[in-house]
Amino acid sequence: MATVDIVTASPGQTEALAARLARALQAGDVVTLSGDLGSGKTTFVRGACRALGVTRPVTSPTFTIAHRYAGHGLDVSHLDLYRFQHVEPEEWGALEPYLDGALCFVEWPEAGTGFLPPARVAVTFRHIDPEHRGITVECAEESLLQRLGEC
Ligand code: ADP
Ligand code: MG
Repeated sequence: MATVDIVTASPGQTEALAARLARALQAGDVVTLSGDLGSGKTTFVRGACRALGVTRPVTSPTFTIAHRYAGHGLDVSHLDLYRFQHVEPEEWGALEPYLDGALCFVEWPEAGTGFLPPARVAVTFRHIDPEHRGITVECAEESLLQRLGEC
């Protein structure tokens, strides 16, 4: 597994990092987002959505669990499993359609273990200080990560 570690100094830089990654992704890909509350997961999804042509506001689905956005030629889904200890089969039945034909970002993916398909990319966020975040991007394909280092 190849990894890239990047420090961003603003939400805009986190969005720009996500944008560079998103352009290499496609429908059916799952990207997991791990890290504490406020570490930048939703900000990252917003940057990916913008790069893919989503113009609607991109907000946290913590209470609604899932959002699906139409981009230019690609749908983007955003799941937030924060409220689950573990997703039950009937709950997964309601969530699974969000993965269908979409690039899917998943916050708090641990709760979806057993249901979520393997992630193509795993992103981990950590607080450094109020403006800086450490972001680790993990992927089996080194070529996909190469483009990310060029901030
Ligand atoms: P999460 O989804 O992980 O709970 P959010 O993306 O919703 O986190 O919130 C991140 C918060 O941190 C936002 O208020 C954002 O403005 C702020 N922030 C400050 N610096 C950064 C940075 N470098 N990257 C991302 N967010 C940052
Ligand atoms: Mg969030």
